Amino acid sequence: IAATMQTGELTIARLLEYSRRTFPETGVTTWSGTELRPMSFPELGDRSAALAHALTKLGIGRGDRVATFMWNNNEHQIAYGAVPAMGAVLHTLNLRLSPEQAIFIINHADDQVIIVDASLAPMLARYVPATPGVRHIIVANGPASTFEAPEGITVHSFDDLIADEPTTFAWPEMDEKDAAVMCYTSGTTGDPKGVVYSHRSIWLHSMQVCSSSGMGLGNTDSVLAIVPMFHVMSWGLPYAAMMAGLTLVMPDRFLQPEPLLAIMAKAKPTFAAAVPTIWQGVAAALAAAPQDISHLREVVVGGAAVPPSMIRQFDDFGAPITHAWGMTETSPLGSVSRAPFGVTDDEKAFAYRVTQGRFPASVEARLIDDDGNEVPWDGESAGELEVRGPWITGAYYSPAGPVVSSEKFHDGWLRTGDVASISPDGYMTIVDRTKDLIKTGGEWISSVELENTIMSNPTVTEAAVVAVPDEKWDERPFVLAVVADAANADPASLREHLAGFVPRWQLPERWAFVAEVPKTSVGKFDKKRIRAEYADGAYE
Ligand code: ADP
Repeated sequence: IAATMQTGELTIARLLEYSRRTFPETGVTTWSGTELRPMSFPELGDRSAALAHALTKLGIGRGDRVATFMWNNNEHQIAYGAVPAMGAVLHTLNLRLSPEQAIFIINHADDQVIIVDASLAPMLARYVPATPGVRHIIVANGPASTFEAPEGITVHSFDDLIADEPTTFAWPEMDEKDAAVMCYTSGTTGDPKGVVYSHRSIWLHSMQVCSSSGMGLGNTDSVLAIVPMFHVMSWGLPYAAMMAGLTLVMPDRFLQPEPLLAIMAKAKPTFAAAVPTIWQGVAAALAAAPQDISHLREVVVGGAAVPPSMIRQFDDFGAPITHAWGMTETSPLGSVSRAPFGVTDDEKAFAYRVTQGRFPASVEARLIDDDGNEVPWDGESAGELEVRGPWITGAYYSPAGPVVSSEKFHDGWLRTGDVASISPDGYMTIVDRTKDLIKTGGEWISSVELENTIMSNPTVTEAAVVAVPDEKWDERPFVLAVVADAANADPASLREHLAGFVPRWQLPERWAFVAEVPKTSVGKFDKKRIRAEYADGAYE
């Protein structure tokens, strides 16, 4: 028999109009450096419609790419609403890429319009002479004159452009499988690759983010979205906000620990999300100047392995961390770690919380060994993690059409490049990235495990471990560390601490101490650079 249910396309326009009609009391609010600049969901709806009219006048139509070169703020959220709702494709550009990478991505995606924050206009102005497809620049949060345009480009002020436009828009009928947003990987291990999210994938992903096995977000939450809107759509928070009617607190360009703590003191968010290195900085700032952050009922941390010591530290702050795993290719929510039903003992729960967690119903996972065989979920055996599901990419974007390479895809599954094990009750532990594992004397060392153990030493603030070539052993671990005090820069005592946790053959011989570990464009340890600089003798 046939199901009797209606269909109905799951589109961004619906989300936008839903939030406008349903949640007049909440919205988005952006830190100005001293205060919050609120914008309600009805205002978001009005301004998104106005921007859609303005973009239509600039010639933007179905499927055209409109890029953003923006911090997390109200204006960026308006672009998140307007661009996909009108049927165009939002392309969130990573602000921290090298000029070559940024130019490559703008050309590759064929961006026609770029919305840029005034504070970033001078940087973008240096790129556009090499991006002939860009026709319009829209400057937000400052005068259009901050952007010096080469010939062929028209510059507009965001505020002026939308000021007199209508506040409603007849959003076009869309197929939910149409492209809505595109995002390039940050290129940690290779060239940036483009992923294109559909209206449907974003909608389903938002439902998972809001659900209690995702991030558990609702109307009474206020969410400090530190993870950039160019890093996998701020992990889905801007669209989840429209669905849940939660208050989105945006840090704009104020991303150092002190301003983040000032925002928290003012906005008292109930929830926050960022990569581990951000929380490392916040923890250090809190040690210097204590502040109550227990208004955070939950902090979601992912993008890189969360050191167990950090989870304990934030428990002590009264702001418990929930560990999550994901990728640009997975929208990004791939797994979330919460202790299972019945585990009430704190230490037993902790053993679950340090893992990368369980997969949601929409994410299927399997582990594959070097011979292509599936590895059992026994909590011990490791293999490459492969995933599939309605918000997992099935290809990479290319102007000539989607690209499915055997290096990244395997019979319809995404090869994550992560080595993991999964327990019988479905908790995944990431051992390492395939490319970061250290091969030594025929054995493997997990760089992640060494890092976590080194960082469990309270004198160490940051530690990144990479493989370096070794004549005898093939590869050996090299540690690049940041210590609280110069007196702690002592490999012998750090090795002694480590010897309490890992086998002796894993103990690194090579150590170097720096003021800061190099980070990627999204704030992860930049292992590619560390390896290169080690090879160059920079850390000898
Ligand atoms: P890039 O691959 O360029 O760094 P992504 O942000 O998409 O960009 O990174 C995804 C990768 O980040 C994953 O494949 C995994 O290696 C790593 N990662 C993400 N979350 C975690 C986590 N919780 N623990 C360990 N690694 C993680």
